[in-house]
Amino acid sequence: MRIFDPHIHMTSRTTDDYRAMHAAGVRALVEPAFWLGQPRTSPGSFRDYFDALLGWEPYRAAQHGIQHFCAIALNPKEANDPRCLPVLDELPRYLVKDNVVAVGEIGFDAMTEAEEHAFTVQLALAREHDLPALVHTPHRDKHAGTARTLEIVRADGIDPALVALDHLNELTAPLVAASGCWMGFSIYPDTKMDPDRMVSILKEHGTRRVLVNSAADWGHSDPLRTHATAVAMLDAGFTEDDVDQVLWRNPVEFYGQSGRLLLDEAQHPADEGTFAGNSIRRGGS
Ligand SMILES: [Zn+2]
Repeated sequence: MRIFDPHIHMTSRTTDDYRAMHAAGVRALVEPAFWLGQPRTSPGSFRDYFDALLGWEPYRAAQHGIQHFCAIALNPKEANDPRCLPVLDELPRYLVKDNVVAVGEIGFDAMTEAEEHAFTVQLALAREHDLPALVHTPHRDKHAGTARTLEIVRADGIDPALVALDHLNELTAPLVAASGCWMGFSIYPDTKMDPDRMVSILKEHGTRRVLVNSAADWGHSDPLRTHATAVAMLDAGFTEDDVDQVLWRNPVEFYGQSGRLLLDEAQHPADEGTFAGNSIRRGGS
């Protein structure tokens, strides 16, 4: 089984996670830029973070036989902090880089005006750069947040095939299914969406335009929920081809629209080598 995790924050995860993911079949992933927990106070902190998503983290992933791509954006939560806003002006020079396969994650957190401004600006950037957009839907008041998100997508005029709305559930999936946008589902260990609920949604909506991710980060989360969903699908009577579509071919199709998703079919762990003169042995050799 081959797995592509279309939304996972490896910066927050350990080497053991990379090893376990590879053993479970994960061979590629997209790490969207997000909120790091500790509030950032200047655009410089974002630059260093974006550089890490483009440099150090792909190097680290490659040691474990996993290809690492990223999405770049000002996240919804920090869009509310005026100190962070100038980073919007710096995004265009990141959006032309080879490993950037989407703008994200953008969208709403608390549904503020500042979030809507940053979302609108960044959706336009995705359209202008012909890049997919990964859109976070709020965890509170999800139905209203998803409906408003779809209004903004329509108003922008971006091709809905370039937009994925993430963190959906049984209530919000039908709204997105009718919109032409991709439906993203984050599978969590013990709250929100779980593998069995995901299987029920797949039975209802089919396997097309669906992305399943672990969204694993520094909170309670599990980078193997993608694999658990694959197993639940097989147990429920889906075929291996269905599993391959949902967990590999769909994310490849979505992010492949960037024209930058160059997958290495061999997928052997990389020779250790160095990144900027440093190895994963903490700078030693
Ligand atoms: Zn995320």
